Amino acid sequence: MSTSQLQSGYQTELADFRVTFSRGGAYTAIVLVLLGVGLDYAQYPEWLTPFAAARFVVSLLIGGIVLMLNGDSGRRLAPWLTLSWLLLPQIMISWMIWQTDGVLSPYYMGLTLAIFASGIALPFGLWQNLVFGVLSCFFYLLACVFHPGGIASIGTMTVNLLLLLFAAAASAVYTFFNERVRFMLFRLKAEVSAKNTELEVINQRLLDIKGQLLQQEKMAAIGTLAAGLLHEVNNPVNFCLMAIEVAMEEPVAKTEAGIQECLVDARQGMQRIQHIVSDLKTFAYRKPGADAEVGTPFLFEKALDSAVRLVGHELRGVAVTRELPDDTLVLGDEAAIIGVLINLLSNAVLAMRKAGTPKPAIHVSVKWVDERLHVNVRDNGPGIADEHLARVFEPFFTTRDVGQGLGLGLSISYAVIERHGGLLFAESELGSWAAFSFDLSRAT
Ligand code: ADP
Repeated sequence: MSTSQLQSGYQTELADFRVTFSRGGAYTAIVLVLLGVGLDYAQYPEWLTPFAAARFVVSLLIGGIVLMLNGDSGRRLAPWLTLSWLLLPQIMISWMIWQTDGVLSPYYMGLTLAIFASGIALPFGLWQNLVFGVLSCFFYLLACVFHPGGIASIGTMTVNLLLLLFAAAASAVYTFFNERVRFMLFRLKAEVSAKNTELEVINQRLLDIKGQLLQQEKMAAIGTLAAGLLHEVNNPVNFCLMAIEVAMEEPVAKTEAGIQECLVDARQGMQRIQHIVSDLKTFAYRKPGADAEVGTPFLFEKALDSAVRLVGHELRGVAVTRELPDDTLVLGDEAAIIGVLINLLSNAVLAMRKAGTPKPAIHVSVKWVDERLHVNVRDNGPGIADEHLARVFEPFFTTRDVGQGLGLGLSISYAVIERHGGLLFAESELGSWAAFSFDLSRAT
């Protein structure tokens, strides 16, 4: 944070602080001014009524100035408004001194008390504090000099005046250092909050990296598994298919409808296995860092077919419908996009199963908007609560039971789409539907 930013932040906070303290101080002053009736009763009983009236008027005036502290101009003028209401009791006390014993009145202590209180309790500016001290001395001087009985003792007046000046000086010094300490505290607070923000960013980055590492490990494990599976399954599947083809050419198979049907079913089954193996191939041959390759053209329609096949067992009982344009050739990392689709489809199925959605359905709609292919995967499941909607892309955010979901699927999918220059986002109506959309660029 630059010094000027720090200063302006400090000034804003200081202005609020001053208004709050001025209000608190004013209420305290009103109470003390009114309680002073007790002093009048003990010291000047014959003046009780006019002094009580004066105290009442001063309290009302202080209350009026407090009202002026509201609003922007009140905030700006707070130090001067504080000075104004602080001067009212000083004027009142000086008037009382003038009316009663002049130099011999013990009420000058009230003036000293206000000077001290202003420095200690109010976030007053240095200048206002100095003006306040000097004016208080001046009022006292006027009260003594113009007292009808004259100045009873020059010595006492000098001592009292000096004590008032000392109080004013001490209060000003205190205010000066008070301001500096307040600024230091503010700077410390600003530094701590800046450090906290930095730590939050680092923490988030670490979580992202951890998520990506886990995903890479998962993909590597699938790759190894798929490579092994390919090796083991491909050959038997191929010679089974060949054997079926040969058998289908046999005269018995051609004449016997039952045998023909069995062979057709067997061929279909083998072809499905072949498809699944070829889907897995996309993962098996992924080189490390293949994610970064987002520039290979592929048919999105085929990626969607693969994803639907790979989560076929989960999708049982779920109506999957789709709406695709004729041409879906996009640029990207096909395997990673299949991964994203698998994640969206299985999240939808899991949410619908958990909520017991009566007629579970997923609709995938795909359309071109300018040069980007927009994909929307929408289910009619329980939807996502508003407070969760913004968090579903956070790594490790999950509403699944402990041990059932890592909460990484969507955060990784988000990163994958982001690497493709697109955006993955979620929309939902709680209790009705949830939809995830992303976009990919056209292969030219
Ligand atoms: P996981 O599936 O491991 O919980 P994800 O990052 O894939 O992690 O999903 C995070 C959370 O998003 C899920 O726990 C779930 O609460 C919510 N979610 C994702 N997709 C849907 C959906 N289609 N319907 C309702 N909630 C969903």
